[in-house]
Amino acid sequence: MKIAVIGTGYVGLVTAAGLAEFGHAVVGADKAADKIERIARGELPIYEPGLEELLKSNLKRGNLTFSEDLDKTIRASDVIFVCVGTPQGEDGSADMSQIEEVSRQIAENLNGYKVVVEKSTVPVKTSSWIKRTITLYKKSDIHFDIASNPEFLREGSAVPDFLRPDRIIIGVETERARDILVKIYENAKDRLLITNIDTAELIKHASNSFLAMKISYINLMANLCEKTEADIEQVAKGMGLDPRIGNLFLKAGLGFGGSCFPKDLKALIKIGEDLGVDMSLLKETDRINAERSKLFLEKIKKALWILKDKKIAILGLAFKPDTDDIREAPSIKLIANLLNEGAVLRLYDPKAQNNMKELYPEDKTRIQYCRTPYKAANGANALLLCTEWKEFIDLDLKKVKNLMDNPIIVDGRNIFNPAEVRKIGFEYYSIGRN
Ligand code: NAD
Repeated sequence: MKIAVIGTGYVGLVTAAGLAEFGHAVVGADKAADKIERIARGELPIYEPGLEELLKSNLKRGNLTFSEDLDKTIRASDVIFVCVGTPQGEDGSADMSQIEEVSRQIAENLNGYKVVVEKSTVPVKTSSWIKRTITLYKKSDIHFDIASNPEFLREGSAVPDFLRPDRIIIGVETERARDILVKIYENAKDRLLITNIDTAELIKHASNSFLAMKISYINLMANLCEKTEADIEQVAKGMGLDPRIGNLFLKAGLGFGGSCFPKDLKALIKIGEDLGVDMSLLKETDRINAERSKLFLEKIKKALWILKDKKIAILGLAFKPDTDDIREAPSIKLIANLLNEGAVLRLYDPKAQNNMKELYPEDKTRIQYCRTPYKAANGANALLLCTEWKEFIDLDLKKVKNLMDNPIIVDGRNIFNPAEVRKIGFEYYSIGRN
């Protein structure tokens, strides 16, 4: 069985390398030729722990190759995993133009039976559009199947998530497609859930929106804690001990970001509304999340009063630790708000600085990128924590205090123990704790 993976971004690259690791012959293809060139040399265009080793070992074994020739890759394949982007469109719905483009290209190169597998996150009913597109543009009477196999990997732990997933969802409408996908995932037979295609498509959006809702819920509780003597960390711990609730995704903070939750939540709201379903529960989830940056700015002002010309260090730019991804990261809005107030920024992130530089280039007067967290803290009037990188949890806080002009920490991720930090001499503000 020859497998093509189209789109070699975060998901496609991990999928290609992961399927090769399972022993399949895989070709990864992308229309970004420069990206393909780098990947084929074993160089990663993104930061993802463990991926470089997985890529290099499978390139060496020879069962993983990369190509910028999409036509040839499609023609040579039996199964095509579509992993292109489905970014947010202007009205909140998913922009499906990359999926449509690939569907047409598959149609034009359909030279034998193939299974086209949606791995990208797509609205329920997308398979009907792909099917219609391929049927409209294909040149011969050749049969094909569509299947859905949504991806649940998390950036930062994408490799183990793909190689040892909690579940593999497979949505199919024919026995033939089902048998092929079951064979591909033979090594994880016990974790397969096979459904129809609409169900598989919806499971992905329903899962991401549920997790987003959990985060907004705990942030709402954090707002309540701040008006009382309750402590959000203890509230979350107490809630999480109930196995019906579980302790994951109960971390109060700056809210959710990244390339998935915000866009998938908005897309599901739009899907529901288009189908006449009341989606107010999810609209509130989105609204509570959007409010987080405003509330954080208020906290910073509570500490510093006037922000104009204050030197502020920001530690953490990535939307979460162990990734260089800054898509929809809370730090982006925070930087915009602080610049708007006239603050002078010193930024540090172990992996995401180059990506942030593209959005906010270095500028001698207002924005400076620093090589260490200590350089960022040097002379600062306040230190903000935006991403819970382990490196920040392990900071030498006494050294940080001696470097800063004013020992003030505003912690958007609750990574420090308030009593300990205050004992060192910091004025400390965090989320949902007094
Ligand atoms: P990405 O932007 O990193 O990668 C998309 C890739 O597709 C890019 O390399 C782009 O050049 C390529 N591409 C676009 N149009 C193409 C075309 N016509 N032909 C060939 N290649 C083309 O996106 P991503 O983060 O990998 O996400 C891909 C999909 O997976 C999205 O639907 C996303 O919602 C979903 N998803 C993402 C994650 C995640 O953590 N990033 C997790 C699960 C699911």
